[in-house]
Amino acid sequence: MLFDAHCHLDFAAFDADREAVFSRAHAAGVRRFMVPGTTRARWPSVSALAARDDVSVGLGLHPYFIDDHRDEDLDALEEALTQRGEVVAIGECGIDARFPQTLPRQWQLFEAQLQLAKQHRLPLVIHCVHANDQVAKRLRQLALPAGGLIHAFAGSAQQAQRFVDLGYHLGLGGAATHARAQRLQRVIAGLPDDAFVLETDSPDMPPAGHPGQRNEPANLTEVLTRVAALRRRPKAEVAAQTYANTCRLFAC
Ligand SMILES: [Zn+2]
Repeated sequence: MLFDAHCHLDFAAFDADREAVFSRAHAAGVRRFMVPGTTRARWPSVSALAARDDVSVGLGLHPYFIDDHRDEDLDALEEALTQRGEVVAIGECGIDARFPQTLPRQWQLFEAQLQLAKQHRLPLVIHCVHANDQVAKRLRQLALPAGGLIHAFAGSAQQAQRFVDLGYHLGLGGAATHARAQRLQRVIAGLPDDAFVLETDSPDMPPAGHPGQRNEPANLTEVLTRVAALRRRPKAEVAAQTYANTCRLFAC
């Protein structure tokens, strides 16, 4: 049994066949799904998915969609966290240094969401691209109560260790399956059993063998196969560990 710890099943890319996507996932053994929110406009669609027994949700403001966010969205986020019992995490939020011109604004929104995580004692879903050292530094200063997920981790062994020492989980997905990801594959081989979860980031980041295609949670089995091989452990063992890790991380 697998838990897809990060998938955007609310996105329009799934509007035409969402039920079939869930069915294929279930048939592949992917039984639970964590769907994070990306923009205020999308939160209602994310929250609607929480009506399903197999979906847990987060709400947040994603740095990639920086132009969509307004200051009042932070007030709306706080209100939503207070009112909606189904929200298990704050995110997707974070820093994407591929867009240097918006970094000050990204940090402003991220910082506000870090403070909400502290107040509400919720875990974070963190998107962190070319900013692992800066984000780890801030997380160390804050010592947040519920930790979080470093989604699509792609850093060095030292950066991985730093996040793990701070109590964060690393999200492993399609990137692990690509032949060129040798540094990441060495990191994966050496992680503690309780330090990582499996995720697809659907509809993005398809595993090797699906270039340019829409990714979907059924493909999580390919991530499992690669991660188990890298760690020289049986797939069933890695599946059970990562399922338990995801439940513990999101307390769901
Ligand atoms: Zn994402």
